[in-house]
Amino acid sequence: MEGMKHAVVVIGGGPSGLAAAIYLARANLSPLVFAGFPPGGQLMLTSEVENYPGYRHIQGPELVSQIRRQAESFGARVIDVNVKRIQKQVGEFIIDSPEAEPEDRSITSQTILIATGAKALWLGLDSEKRFSGKGVSACATCDGYFFQQKIVAVVGGGDTACEEALYLTKFAKKVFLVHRRERLRASKIMQDRVLRHPKITVLWNSQVVDIFGNSRVEGISLRSTTTNEVKDLPVDGVFIAIGHRPDTEIFRGLVEMDEGGYIITQDTYARSVLRGDDRQSKLSFVQSSHYYSSATTTKGVFAAGDCVDYTYRQAATAVGMGVAASIDIERFLQSEE
Ligand SMILES: Cc1cc2nc3c(=O)[nH]c(=O)nc-3n(C[C@H](O)[C@H](O)[C@H](O)COP(=O)(O)OP(=O)(O)OC[C@H]3O[C@@H](n4cnc5c(N)ncnc54)[C@H](O)[C@@H]3O)c2cc1C
Repeated sequence: MEGMKHAVVVIGGGPSGLAAAIYLARANLSPLVFAGFPPGGQLMLTSEVENYPGYRHIQGPELVSQIRRQAESFGARVIDVNVKRIQKQVGEFIIDSPEAEPEDRSITSQTILIATGAKALWLGLDSEKRFSGKGVSACATCDGYFFQQKIVAVVGGGDTACEEALYLTKFAKKVFLVHRRERLRASKIMQDRVLRHPKITVLWNSQVVDIFGNSRVEGISLRSTTTNEVKDLPVDGVFIAIGHRPDTEIFRGLVEMDEGGYIITQDTYARSVLRGDDRQSKLSFVQSSHYYSSATTTKGVFAAGDCVDYTYRQAATAVGMGVAASIDIERFLQSEE
């Protein structure tokens, strides 16, 4: 394979990159997918998935492995190594992965799809890992439904934490919002909604120092950041909402990102302009005259999934973005012929 120029290389082996690979393989573009190590992405951390269309109920790892097998069955080649560096040349990219087999260590490709996802930030407690999927979650949209008439705590103080707390009021009978400081960082409108909501109580100046229970979460220990006093609070679930970090460090200098490290595509650029955010208005997209929702600011580089999407962050939306990107790439390659 050495010396051969690929039409497309996908970086990222979560649902987004693998869904794109199904389409790219069926379009006879023989995609090579660097799935990263460990492969599979965020769904490997979840057990029950009940909101992926077509499956009433499926385990997260099983869902990713089915998408992978489907991509491989059409001829996508998926390898479980991390890409370390990308160099831009005229009309092509060199993709370096020193941990790959010799023939895949330095690959040349005409286009790249970045689908490296994101990681939810955690508090860093041992008990948090132990109860992951047993009452500890980082996604209210995913897991809120499991907490009908239960008591839950949301940890954080930004817009995401407020959104998660408000969303959980649909299911839970009581929602505690646990925040380290004495004021929320969220926008004024979000704060008002949270503070007015009859089911939500904000626990100010409080830090979660432990999560306890037997087989599932039964409560949390909170330390006051003003008095240092520790108190237990019985809860059935804990939602950690302290942020996400996109896995995009190696693409710095290759494509434009926002201040959070999310890769800017034509789609998110359009959204930011609609929101009245003009920080991005100086960017230019040079993909040709077409509108490609997944195009980045660098010609030939496309991006999809949670490394772009700071809004929806779902397996189904990541898959949808991957599919859209694969069609963009196919059209881009055609227009370049
Ligand atoms: C605990 C938890 C539970 C969730 N539950 C649900 C749910 O029930 N329903 C739902 O719809 N969504 C759920 N989500 C969200 C969902 O998992 C994500 O939205 C989705 O996985 C995003 O897909 P992605 O392909 O964009 O990225 P990811 O799944 O993050 O995959 C990214 C992939 O890229 C790889 N990668 C990173 N850097 C490199 C590199 N340099 N080289 C090569 N590869 C690289 C990673 O190893 C990984 O394999 C959950 C998330 C979490 C954390």
